[in-house]
Amino acid sequence: MKVLVVGAGIAGPTLAFWLLRAGHEPVLVEQAPAPRRGGHLVDFWGAGFNVAERMGLVPELRRRGHRFTEARGVTSSGRTFASFEPSAVMRTDDRYVSIARSDLAAAIYEALDGRVETVFGDTVSALDDDGDRVHVTFASGHTREVDLVIGADGLHSRVRRLAFGPQERYEDRLGIVVSAFDVVGYGPRDELVAVMYAEVGFQLVRLSLPDNVTMFLITMRHAGDLPERDVDAQQHLLRAGLAGRGGETAGALEAMSAASSFYVDRVSQVRMPTWTRGRVGLVGDAAACPSLLAGQGSALAMIEAYVLAAELARSGGDHVAAFERYGARLAPFVRAKQDAARGLGLAFAPRNRVQLLIRNAAMTMMGLPGVADRVMGRSFHDTVELPAWTTSGSSI
Ligand SMILES: Cc1cc2nc3c(=O)[nH]c(=O)nc-3n(C[C@H](O)[C@H](O)[C@H](O)COP(=O)(O)OP(=O)(O)OC[C@H]3O[C@@H](n4cnc5c(N)ncnc54)[C@H](O)[C@@H]3O)c2cc1C
Repeated sequence: MKVLVVGAGIAGPTLAFWLLRAGHEPVLVEQAPAPRRGGHLVDFWGAGFNVAERMGLVPELRRRGHRFTEARGVTSSGRTFASFEPSAVMRTDDRYVSIARSDLAAAIYEALDGRVETVFGDTVSALDDDGDRVHVTFASGHTREVDLVIGADGLHSRVRRLAFGPQERYEDRLGIVVSAFDVVGYGPRDELVAVMYAEVGFQLVRLSLPDNVTMFLITMRHAGDLPERDVDAQQHLLRAGLAGRGGETAGALEAMSAASSFYVDRVSQVRMPTWTRGRVGLVGDAAACPSLLAGQGSALAMIEAYVLAAELARSGGDHVAAFERYGARLAPFVRAKQDAARGLGLAFAPRNRVQLLIRNAAMTMMGLPGVADRVMGRSFHDTVELPAWTTSGSSI
C-alpha cells in the first residue's frame, strides 16, 4: 500500500520504518524545510524504549543522549530540600535516556537510510477520501493519490483538522504554558543535574548539559491564548508572568533573550473518540497528545506507530480491520496515561500554597528508598504489551 505519512517528528519516521519493513510504500511529508535541530529534551524509556531497541536505535540514542544523575528540589536561596535519582522514578537502571527531541527524531529518520521518499517544506492542504483512494493536494500545489494518509503532525495536526474537524473539538487545554530554551555559558552549573524550583503558579527547571549548554524548562499557569509566531510577545508574556519571582528566575529570564533555541506552547492533551476515519488515521501527539506532564509522549508516539504498522502488516491489506485493532489495543492504555498525567499539573505549576506544599513534600519523600517507585513508578510503568512483529501471520 502507498501510505502518505504527514510529519517527520517521532511518530512519522517510526511508522515509515515499520511500514517499509512490512513491504508497504511510505512517503513522508514534513512542513519544516529540513530536519529540525535543537528544542527541548525528552526522557525516553518504557515500552517506547523497547520499540527503539527493536529498530536497533539504542546505541545511537545513548551516543546522542544524556543520563541525569540527580533531580534536585531547591529553595529560593538555592538550598537543596529534595534529591533523588531520575532512574528510580522510571523503574529502570539503564533502559532510559534523556535526549533532545530533535536528536531522537533524527536518529529515527536516519534509520530509514534514504529508503523512504521524504518531501520537506510542504504539507497537505486538502484530503479527498473517495473510499478506494485518498486524493491529496499539497500546499505546493502538487497532488497525489495514496491508499492511506496518516497524520503524525503533532499537537496542532492539520490532518486531524482536515479529516476529523477543528482543533478545539479535541484539544483539552490544561491552563499551563511551557517554554524550553537553551543558552551557552550560563552559571551556576550542576553537571547533569535537574535543578527544580517552584512557587505558586510556576516551576523553573535548570539542566546543565555538556559543552557549557544550559537548558531551562518553565511551566507557568496561564489560561489565556499565546501570541502565535511572535517570539518577542511570547517572551514578554513569560517575563510579565514571572516578574519579581525568586530563585534563579530573574537570571533565567535574562538569559532567555540570548537563547540559541526558544520553544513555547500551550500544555494540552488531545482526546479523540477514534483515531481513524475512512482511509485516514492519526498517530502520536496528533492522535492522543498526553502533554509533557506525562513525560512519555515520545515513547507513546513510537508505540502507537509500531502497533499501527504491525496491525497493517498482519491485516493483509485490510486497513479497516487494522485500524480497528490499532485503536482497541491502545486506546485504554493511552487514556490511562493521559488521566495519570493530568494529576501531575500540581508538580509542574502548583495552583496554590497547598499544592506547592504537597509538591515539595512528595519530592522530599522521593529520596527515600522505594518511595519514588511507589509514588510515581506505577503511573510511569507501561502495562502495554507490544505485538510480535508479523507479516502475513509469520513472525519476522
Ligand atoms: C517541553 C516538553 C517536554 C517534553 N518532555 C517529554 C519527555 O520527557 N518524555 C517524552 O516522552 N515526551 C516528552 N514530551 C512530549 C514529546 O515531545 C511529544 O509527545 C512527541 O514529540 C510527539 O511526537 P510526534 O511525532 O507525535 O509529534 P512531534 O514530535 O511534534 O512531530 C510532529 C512533526 O510534524 C511536523 N508537522 C507539524 N505540522 C505539520 C504539517 N501541517 N505538515 C507536515 N508536517 C507537519 C512538525 O514539524 C514535526 O516535525 C515533551 C514535550 C514538550 C513540549
